Amino acid sequence: MVSEKMYDKLAELAIRKGVNLQKGQPLHIRANVRDIGFVRKVVKEAYEAGAKSVSIDWRDEELSKMNYDYQSIETLSDIPQWVYDRTKLQHDHKTAYLSIASDKPGALKDVDSAKLNAYQQAYYAKTADLMAYTMNNEGQWCILGVPSVEWAKVVFPELSDEEAFEKLGDAIFAVTRVSKDNDPIKEWEDHDRELIEHADKLNSYNFEKLHFTSESGTDLYVSLVEDHIWVGGGCTTPDGVFFDPNMPTEECFCMPLKKGVEGIVYASKPLSYNGKVIEDFWFRFENGKVVDFDAKKEKEALKQLLEFDEGSSYLGEVALVPYDSPVSKSGILFFDTLYDENAACHLALGRPYPENIKGGEQMSKEELLAHGANDSLQHEDFMFGTKEMDIDGICKDGTIVPVFRKGNFVF
Ligand code: ZN
Ligand code: ZN
Repeated sequence: MVSEKMYDKLAELAIRKGVNLQKGQPLHIRANVRDIGFVRKVVKEAYEAGAKSVSIDWRDEELSKMNYDYQSIETLSDIPQWVYDRTKLQHDHKTAYLSIASDKPGALKDVDSAKLNAYQQAYYAKTADLMAYTMNNEGQWCILGVPSVEWAKVVFPELSDEEAFEKLGDAIFAVTRVSKDNDPIKEWEDHDRELIEHADKLNSYNFEKLHFTSESGTDLYVSLVEDHIWVGGGCTTPDGVFFDPNMPTEECFCMPLKKGVEGIVYASKPLSYNGKVIEDFWFRFENGKVVDFDAKKEKEALKQLLEFDEGSSYLGEVALVPYDSPVSKSGILFFDTLYDENAACHLALGRPYPENIKGGEQMSKEELLAHGANDSLQHEDFMFGTKEMDIDGICKDGTIVPVFRKGNFVF
């Protein structure tokens, strides 16, 4: 069972290791209203670490749903200037961002998808140039989760409220590496080091492409961009502050060549997109683009993702996650990408991370495109790793190097 002391440790981990808040730095928190108790712990920890100020954006699934149901498409598509100005000002002041997840998966499933889509389009269009701050790691950011009954009941519908909450809480704290008597910060330092070693090994091969095969029917070639860098285990800002953007993280990720993806891929877990849970889906790629797809559930939502913009039907990320990762071993489907993407190898449709190209964070959009990078306002991860997944790395001289056998790293 998760004790009060473990929430204290999680708050400390979030501030000291997750965002690694620096003295005199402002912090901005995004949280659900139900998590006020945990947020108070985080804010106290932040001030004790020397935060200059702490601001908070509160949300609630019921209120979000009302806004979509009652506002017109025109109103939802009109993003006020102050939304842009406020974020811009926060970036100018080098604000660190902490997001606390506990939302009920699929809470917006009954909302008109045209409205969700219109709001997203408008929001991303309005704030497109602000995205670099987190995408290029110009400032620290971190996302982690805490359990809620609403979330737990989606994960464990057969259990009582109390049992479901307890079970989800145990799982979240375990995969976030916080236990009753451990030192989570030390554990995270060791874990980061291990991920960095895997990334270094992948970088030393400088593969031209990867070949994925699995018992699900996946048979996919993913070429990597020239001068690519595999990244795992934390990021560093231009000021040299090391932080962990995702807690948990189990991945080493890289940038696919936009026009270099061929074959078929079967998703191995559902995808929660725009409040809908898309299930049993596959994509066929030609010259990097999704040319055919199907889904047993919520196919329309998948179609909207693929047609969102030009780049949302091309890949922006390929990530290797061992089948034996703690999230995978928990055997739980969290219905939340932060967790589920760390249970299996995944791909993302849409925007790539510039840090996956040497010098990419200093490149203009045109330079990134010239390197073969994708560009999109979307970045949607979906899982395709399985326990039987094999991955071969293909070197520039044609040498084939086994990378994964039966779901895990060979090296
Ligand atoms: Zn990833
Ligand atoms: Zn991703």
